[in-house]
Amino acid sequence: MDKMEGSFAVEDMQNVQINIGAVVKEVEEWDQPMGPFPYPSIATLRNWDFKIMNRYKVFYSPICDRCTLCTYGPCDLTGNKRGACGIDQAAQQGRIVLIAVLMGCTAHAAHGRHLYHWCLDKFGDLPFKMGDEILVDAPLTRTIAGIKPKTLKDFGPVLSYVEEQVSQLLACTHTGQEGNYVDFESKALHAGMLDSLGKEVSDLIQIVAYDMPRGDEDAPLVECGMGTLDKNKAILITYGHNLAGSAEAMFYAEDNKLWDKVDIGGVCCTAIDNTRICEGIGHPDKEFNDKYRMVGTKAKIAGAIGWWRKMVRGDCMDCIMVDEQCVWTDAIVDAEKYKIPLIATNEKIMLGLPDRTNDPVDEIVDDLVNFRMPGVVVLDPVKAGEVGIKTAIAVKPKRAEIREADPFISEEEFKKYAESCTYCHSCQFVCPPHIKIGDVVRAAAEGNLEPLSSTYEICVGCRRCEQVCPQEIPILSLYAYANRDYIRNQKFKMRAGRGPIKDTEIRRVGAPLVLGTIPGVIAIIGCGNYPNGTKECYDIAREFVDRGFIVAATGCMAMDMSLYTDAEGKTIWEQFPGGFDGRNICNVGSCVANAHLHGAGIKVATIFAGRNERANYDDIADYILSKVGACGVAWGAYSQKAASIATGFNRLGVPAVVQSHSVMYRRAFLGRTDKKEDWEIIDARDGSKVYCEPAPEHMLYVAESVEECMLMMAKLCFRPSDNNSGRMIKLTHYCDISMKYFGCMPPDWPIYVRHASDLPLKWKEDMLKELESKYGWEIDWKRKAIVSGPIRKSDVSFDPTNIERKIRVKK
Ligand code: SF4
Ligand code: SF4
Ligand code: SF4
Repeated sequence: MDKMEGSFAVEDMQNVQINIGAVVKEVEEWDQPMGPFPYPSIATLRNWDFKIMNRYKVFYSPICDRCTLCTYGPCDLTGNKRGACGIDQAAQQGRIVLIAVLMGCTAHAAHGRHLYHWCLDKFGDLPFKMGDEILVDAPLTRTIAGIKPKTLKDFGPVLSYVEEQVSQLLACTHTGQEGNYVDFESKALHAGMLDSLGKEVSDLIQIVAYDMPRGDEDAPLVECGMGTLDKNKAILITYGHNLAGSAEAMFYAEDNKLWDKVDIGGVCCTAIDNTRICEGIGHPDKEFNDKYRMVGTKAKIAGAIGWWRKMVRGDCMDCIMVDEQCVWTDAIVDAEKYKIPLIATNEKIMLGLPDRTNDPVDEIVDDLVNFRMPGVVVLDPVKAGEVGIKTAIAVKPKRAEIREADPFISEEEFKKYAESCTYCHSCQFVCPPHIKIGDVVRAAAEGNLEPLSSTYEICVGCRRCEQVCPQEIPILSLYAYANRDYIRNQKFKMRAGRGPIKDTEIRRVGAPLVLGTIPGVIAIIGCGNYPNGTKECYDIAREFVDRGFIVAATGCMAMDMSLYTDAEGKTIWEQFPGGFDGRNICNVGSCVANAHLHGAGIKVATIFAGRNERANYDDIADYILSKVGACGVAWGAYSQKAASIATGFNRLGVPAVVQSHSVMYRRAFLGRTDKKEDWEIIDARDGSKVYCEPAPEHMLYVAESVEECMLMMAKLCFRPSDNNSGRMIKLTHYCDISMKYFGCMPPDWPIYVRHASDLPLKWKEDMLKELESKYGWEIDWKRKAIVSGPIRKSDVSFDPTNIERKIRVKK
């Protein structure tokens, strides 16, 4: 048909197919104009990245100096050598970092994409509402995409954007693409930002679809620990991060009144999300709401990722459902060995199992219960939930009849294994926390089980010792035997994930945070599955919450810190309130929920300071970098997701401290205090350049010990905007932590002093003396005032920025 122009009536047309592309919605009401960078592409925020990296230099210490990514290689990249494609060692390292961050980013975004389709299928296009106390409701989506979602479907284009950008970024890692390390790092920062966006979308979709708490500081305390699982019932363990199948198992148990026959325990972030279901303000679907109200508290939190193998050996499960992310890939090996049927519920993890999605439920259950196959794939969450519950209930008595289904060894076996040890110490050499396993086993052979108890918590359950033991001693089973009473009684309370930070909370803490009188936000992310990691993450949380910081945790870290109690037997969640406030500790939720901590920073800029967040990423990140005292910590082994989380924090201007195991990616962003030019900050009032103290000094710092970590976190909460009272409080904590753990003042404390009123009251006199005698500062002793010496004078109206367009009046 010829193209028709002009006006014509629809009734004149015959056999016409009309294709309508995306329907462009009427411009929604928003009191903010569109900012400069909606849906930023790879190069859009490159200037901002370069500003970060100009101040915080990229440091690499490669773990490998060969590249084997393509068959032009292997290429030797030592010294000044370049690969056949021309890449040098620095760019290669940047490329590896980018690949790791992309892995983490795609894990979160793909999780969100799965939930997006599943929730639309199950619930329809629900209105996106976060309740009356959260009006700035999707801060990362607003800041990056420049849109205000109204329904769940509005998140579709946001996910498409993330996916398109990830595709572009992954392309950059191909042979003969990007060749400069700073540009690779800029791309990694872009991927980190996309990761934060993907996480926000994932969590907001599940919050609305499953009616999870929306900023509830009084989210319920839920049961946590292996001992909370009732051995008189069948135990279904749901393991991973995507609650779709697990939620259906809970609904099936509820609909069929089976809670007296089955316990559902979660492992990893699925555990946290199970306990959030229907704990919110009410589901839009009244029937759903009435039916499943408070179903979340019926689920138990079996434990964090690092406890997995201990749980298997601790006989804590009759059936396993796995979904996605951080599922140990040998779960099926254990499942087969101990006759625990496994159901894979997500395409990302299928473990070579037969896909039984289209088979009748009872046939699948029959095959699993009679051990005809160790596991199955069931990709329909509703069917998977039903199969999981029915299998757990039916298989429990059968497992009880089979000796090999009991992972607990008998007393005779325990003795036999312990006595077979030849003390070759092969195990000790491969043990990450360097447990002297030979000595521990020798003590056990002599009847002393105490070393097996005292090192149980330090053991990370990696099973490396078992793999090298020439005597084939099941060392984890010795641990389980010696600690069986502890396992059976391991019961704690953890606060269920509360979701986003409320606007009202931001209004309360905005000014104290920017002025420094609340000394900072400590964001504890990732997993504590590192030797002593669980205890150390509790110690970090406790140290900072006691000091009046706002402490926020997510994911496995939130579970790990629940293991410890005070003299009254209370966990940290019972000791402190769950608000976003000083001397509070909040569990925001699962891994994807840590996007709400990025969101909190954005909301301080927009709610407290009135900055436009709409498509205005660098402006908001600049505000956070200059004015919001906050620091993240990933204290454990550093998965690719933790790498993307930390990198996303960094692009938003939030520094992070990571554990020494994290140097696997061999990259840090470190400030150079000796380079004065790196610390020039613009005063937005008139565009003048001010030489500032290094606040914060680093953007990504690797700490060697938990004590160093805490000291560094306190330091990385300094900001140029601190008022005198705020700086005094921050300096007090910095010096106090140094005195407490290192027995001396930190050597660089003077660089954070701008005025005598910045000095901690308890050391003021001594500090003034030291400033005069050791550093040559001029002190007016009558007024106890500093006359000269500081890097800069304190100026209450100083308006620090790193972005030229923020200058109000040019000098
Ligand atoms: S990508 Fe480049 S450096 Fe790596 S193996 Fe291929 S040619 Fe060598
Ligand atoms: S399983 Fe435990 S004891 Fe064995 S190597 Fe790993 S950390 Fe060490
Ligand atoms: S490797 Fe086995 S035999 Fe050797 S010390 Fe360790 S437990 Fe004993």
